[in-house]
Amino acid sequence: MAVRALAKVNLGAVERNVARLAREASGSAVCAVVKADGYGHGAVPCARAALAGGATWLAVATANEARDLRAGIGDAIPVLVLGALSGEELPIALDAGADVAVWTVERVQELVALGRPARVHVKFDTGLGRLGTRSEEEATAVAEAVAAAEHLELVGAWTHFATADERGDAFFGEQLARFRAWAEPLRAAHPGLLLHAANSAATLRDPASHFDLVRPGIAIYGLDPFGEDPAARDLEPALVLSSYVAALKVAQPGDSAGYGRRWTASKETLVATVPIGYGDGYRRALTNKAHALLHGRKIPLIGTVSMDNITFDVGEHGLGAKLGDDVVLLGAQGAEQITAEDLAALIDTINYEITTGLTSRITRAHHRDGEPLEA
Ligand SMILES: *Cc1c(COP(=O)(O)O)cnc(C)c1O
Repeated sequence: MAVRALAKVNLGAVERNVARLAREASGSAVCAVVKADGYGHGAVPCARAALAGGATWLAVATANEARDLRAGIGDAIPVLVLGALSGEELPIALDAGADVAVWTVERVQELVALGRPARVHVKFDTGLGRLGTRSEEEATAVAEAVAAAEHLELVGAWTHFATADERGDAFFGEQLARFRAWAEPLRAAHPGLLLHAANSAATLRDPASHFDLVRPGIAIYGLDPFGEDPAARDLEPALVLSSYVAALKVAQPGDSAGYGRRWTASKETLVATVPIGYGDGYRRALTNKAHALLHGRKIPLIGTVSMDNITFDVGEHGLGAKLGDDVVLLGAQGAEQITAEDLAALIDTINYEITTGLTSRITRAHHRDGEPLEA
């Protein structure tokens, strides 16, 4: 095995997930969110797959992400920076030809002073309480200032939901109503203005949130925005994380594995050491909790997750384990699978953090349904 830990990313799955979301969004354009290196899946290859699946927009969170994405995909596709931009980041985003989010008149004046073309999406905070203005009057004033400025183009009006993933929650409907009350009259005054609000959960939950453009992120990678089984919503996880059996040893009763001796053998058993750890983003909180797959069978993680290694109890019969055997930490092997949702539930986090947290030490290998990519 050439690499010690590998994330295989199936771009065929990304393409199908985007096509599935595009069908769900019937008529609305799809803006595929590829921030944080495509939630750990690789931004540029996933962006290309999303475009092949029917997305016509891309979004990132930062100016540097916009620059890197633009270098990878060329000039034809609109790219929106969703996040805040410092004064230093603003020209980087504009150099990348990215659309920017604006919610203050001061930022409009800054853009005017730069004297260069910019495409603007005005952000109205309908309740998430982070970025955007909470004031309908200010949001409208910003939009009118953009529309009146010579080099600026008023492209979008948008918001972001706080509780789209909590089904049955009433706040989602309140935010939607607040957004509609502000944005629909604004669009009447500015025909062609693009309204957008829906993340993955909203896209799957409520057609009334779709407007002109939906902004799914997590679901394009085949992860479930509600933290449930992705298959139930026809989503196909794109990423398989694997490593290999680097050492095998028989533990006698009383022998321990790992720092702090947090596991000791109660009977004779075979212990496999797999060279991946929290330095790769395999979280230390999974200590004594997770499972992996070996020869299509679930094996329990034993002892402390260390920076570079973890240990598994292969059992007294050893499952025929040999040095070099593949071990799947996330994804399917044979009939069994371990989902990002499973791992997240064990450590009180969300699937987003499981894949986004994989570090640069993990080699990403992109393929299309098992076939190598065309050059
Ligand atoms: C990250 C993000 C999205 C995508 O959210 P998912 O829950 O991953 O679908 C959409 N809009 C904004 C503003 C975001 O920051």
